[in-house]
Amino acid sequence: MAKIVFKKDKRNQLLLLPSDIGSLIPDNHLVRVVDEVINQIRLSPLLETYKGGGASSYSPRLMLKILIYSYIDKIYTNRRIEKALRENINLMWISGMSTPDYTTIHNFRSKRMKEAVEDVFGSIVEILIDGGYVKAENLFVDGTKIEANANRYSHIWRKNVERYESMTKERVKKLLSHIEQLQKEEDAEYGIHNLEELEGHITAEKVEKLVDDINQKLSNGTKSKRATSEVKKLKNEYVPKLKKYEQQKDMLQQRNSCSKTDRDATFFRMKEDHLGMSQLKPAYNVQIATEDQFILSYGIYQKAADTSVFIPFFDKVKTQLKALPANIIADAGYGSEENYKFITDQKLGNYVKYNTFDIEKTHDHKKKTFLSDRFKYDSKEDQFKCPAGQILDLIGIKETKSENGYKSKRKVYKSRCCNKCQFRDFCCRGKNDRTIEINRKLDRYRDKVRQNLESEKGIKLRLQRGVDVESVFGQIKHNNQFRRFYSRGLKNVNTEWGIISIAHNIKKMAS
Ligand code: SF4
Repeated sequence: MAKIVFKKDKRNQLLLLPSDIGSLIPDNHLVRVVDEVINQIRLSPLLETYKGGGASSYSPRLMLKILIYSYIDKIYTNRRIEKALRENINLMWISGMSTPDYTTIHNFRSKRMKEAVEDVFGSIVEILIDGGYVKAENLFVDGTKIEANANRYSHIWRKNVERYESMTKERVKKLLSHIEQLQKEEDAEYGIHNLEELEGHITAEKVEKLVDDINQKLSNGTKSKRATSEVKKLKNEYVPKLKKYEQQKDMLQQRNSCSKTDRDATFFRMKEDHLGMSQLKPAYNVQIATEDQFILSYGIYQKAADTSVFIPFFDKVKTQLKALPANIIADAGYGSEENYKFITDQKLGNYVKYNTFDIEKTHDHKKKTFLSDRFKYDSKEDQFKCPAGQILDLIGIKETKSENGYKSKRKVYKSRCCNKCQFRDFCCRGKNDRTIEINRKLDRYRDKVRQNLESEKGIKLRLQRGVDVESVFGQIKHNNQFRRFYSRGLKNVNTEWGIISIAHNIKKMAS
């Protein structure tokens, strides 16, 4: 048998590590790219967050390098970063063996980076453009829901708050009218007058003041046992309830739900398991605009629908990019009349799909005879004629308002008679005559978009969309396992996603 040879245990030798740990890190290692890129960025916005005086601080460039490399290495929490600074050779090298503790890391992230993250991100985007990594010409826009750092059972629903509040107000009204009645019966003065005026304006503050007045009067005059117990109930039970509902309505702002543990998080229906079962979870809607898989802009929103966050997000894109791109490419979730008008007004190439774009191409769709766009339009009479030759007359105009306040109009046409039609089962859904709704403005925008998307350039951009913006979310959520925020509150979450985006861009530069 050949001699077995084991490597020597070197733990007891005097010098275990070389004098320069950099010699252990390959020349093309990611940590060297982080070091190089962060050395180039503008630090002035970060420096402005330091007041000066007191004990010395770790340099913001050093802290930024630590934070960005930790995020690239999937180390997201302050305590784990602190630990890795003593154990991870790459972090030891980039930090120059400095070991800021978790409080220092937390303060840098949640105080200084909170103020400067967008400037630091903007500086990285400038490096990308100047270095020729991107042209910022074609922007691929998409959104995803990232779970908030909040208890998923700690919800507040607007409907419930409003229902319970109105029930409590009814009870308050009843009690007050009863006290008013007692006032008359006992020929006393409890200070209840003009209850009608209070109707519809019951607030915790008003009821509390009224209760204090009644209590004052009850203590001055003859004590009424019945009135005292009613007032006690008002004070101890209903005033706190009214206060709670008012607070919850403040927390909700314009939203229909929010979480008690992260008040800025909203409950969204999120795709969850492999069976496609969705769950309601507190989350944020994260929007990004990419080119060649680099994140060029990002935004965090509290509304679930991508359609309604597109315009505010694009305003952010303009400030973060400091210029307008040539083309916008997005999926059907963004294709609304409001967004199309906005893109046209901004004079951008419109490659944003509408909801029926893919369906229109299917064989089944082409065979359908009774779709509204197959009806013939008579512009002179403003009428439609269906395939059975029946006339559809204009019966009204429907106006809808988007979440952002954009008004859109649809003309409604109704068939004169569908009763005896042999195609009724294929054409009408209900028992009534067929009605169709036509939005000419939206149709014109769709025609233009269809033309763009079916052009040679459009086909190329559509193909690229799948591997551009969607794969960025794949890399962050799947490869980097970032599926839940670690901080709470809109501003902190914005900082966290900013760091994620910077880390992603540097990693992409290295690759
Ligand atoms: S059901 Fe009415 S609208 Fe449809 S084809 Fe028949 S007549 Fe025309």
